[in-house]
Amino acid sequence: FFIVFEGIDGAGKTTQARLLAEALIRRGYPVVLTREPGGTPLGEKMRNLLLDPALSGLSPLAEALFYAGARAELVASIIRPALARGRVVISDRYVDSSLAYQGYGRHLDLSELKKINALATGGLTADLTVLLDMPPAAALARLAGRDRIEREEPGFFDRVRRGYLQLVRQEPGRYLVLDGCLDCSELHRRILKAVEERI
Ligand code: C5P
Ligand code: MG
Repeated sequence: FFIVFEGIDGAGKTTQARLLAEALIRRGYPVVLTREPGGTPLGEKMRNLLLDPALSGLSPLAEALFYAGARAELVASIIRPALARGRVVISDRYVDSSLAYQGYGRHLDLSELKKINALATGGLTADLTVLLDMPPAAALARLAGRDRIEREEPGFFDRVRRGYLQLVRQEPGRYLVLDGCLDCSELHRRILKAVEERI
């Protein structure tokens, strides 16, 4: 079973992914928790490059191909083998991040992005995608106190947020959409309930 967390920066994906992994492990499920960009030695190196402020302003297509490259490695070396062994895989971001950020956010063609990603993943999709939806101002305020300073143009995260909600409309059955402003333990409770119903 493959579960993905999506949402804009600061929405709480990493926290909720970890809480879900811990809860499932306590219930006896074999869990593999991973993240994008990252999750493999190549992916973690690529993450450092992608998040390096000195390299910001990369062309959107180069960025999209870079993410897809890291994703191909993650799928081949971690996600597929884990699923084949019956593990529950939880990923902090996946293909929808590219559609929302590079597609809706940076205006790359969505059908091209879908093709690139279908190639990278061999068509592997999540069984359940948890979208933590919240206004960018609230999400970015959470990050302000941390190491990550937001350096996107105004409006970028509004486009990304609306992009995620568009994706949900195209394929509602795959998503659990929750208000990321909810209390952390309440969010966790709702996510765990939805996962236990489907797993
Ligand atoms: O911690 P997190 O995984 O959210 O950080 C990844 C960073 O990479 C974020 O700042 C996000 O804006 C960016 N990103 C992106 N396009 C993607 C995935 C992530 O710009 N497809
Ligand atoms: Mg995070």
